[in-house]
Amino acid sequence: MREAEGWLAVIGTGPAGPGWMTPETTDIVAEATDLVGYVTYLDRLPDGGQRRHPSDNREELERARQALELAAEGRRVVMVSGGDPGVFAMAAAVYEALDTDGERWRDVPVRVAPSVSAMQAVAARAGAPLGNDFCVVSLSDNLKPWELILKRLRLAAEGDFALALYNPTSRARPWQLGEALATLREHRAGDTPVILGMAVGRENERVTITTLDEVDPSAADMRTLVIVGASTTRVVERGGERRVYTPRTYPAGEE
Ligand code: SAH
Repeated sequence: MREAEGWLAVIGTGPAGPGWMTPETTDIVAEATDLVGYVTYLDRLPDGGQRRHPSDNREELERARQALELAAEGRRVVMVSGGDPGVFAMAAAVYEALDTDGERWRDVPVRVAPSVSAMQAVAARAGAPLGNDFCVVSLSDNLKPWELILKRLRLAAEGDFALALYNPTSRARPWQLGEALATLREHRAGDTPVILGMAVGRENERVTITTLDEVDPSAADMRTLVIVGASTTRVVERGGERRVYTPRTYPAGEE
């Protein structure tokens, strides 16, 4: 990347504070002159003297355009997401802005740096529930129809994938997780392991291992990632601790 010119780097803080950031990401932030992003994510970065441009959590496309505009003016801009910037986060918004209005920022170098996503953090805390094939679905119907989400859940259940569910609930979306779990119950045994990973990596982290029959949707909040096992997902008890894993091998004879 050329030093004298502006650029945009889209980065992620990982699920929590600086301990979850990659060295590559930390280096990029150190080179930046400007930090753009949702205020909660900006707050995870130590003060390095950069100009901060905090925003609320909406208006992603507007924020992407603002970041590109600053880079076009010659600033070294870091766009900050939580978790990985490519998973339900700002990298797609930046490319959408480039796709719809590309001429305007034709000469601005853009790159995306990978980070730990919430599903990896929660899976690691619980053991290895995503050890075999899995699907990732956001339950937020702010940007896509609820019917499509239910269809994807049904098909993932039919395919016997483990599932990582982002954005399970919020004040404005209180019923979606309950309905999603009810849909999965139609296809999967009641004793299928379910993990609620709340605020993983942060002070108030809580990881609950339960089952599809017993899970209480109201125990999840918007900082929770939900993992639902496949038919092969198992619980291991060791020294009073429970962990969940999905074996690498699939039983012979199963389709
Ligand atoms: N880009 C982010 C996801 C943003 S969507 C990533 O890669 O992780 C926001 C959702 O991510 C939340 O609703 C929650 O489901 C999940 N999430 C983010 N941080 C989390 C954490 N520390 N613990 C559990 N879930 C988290």
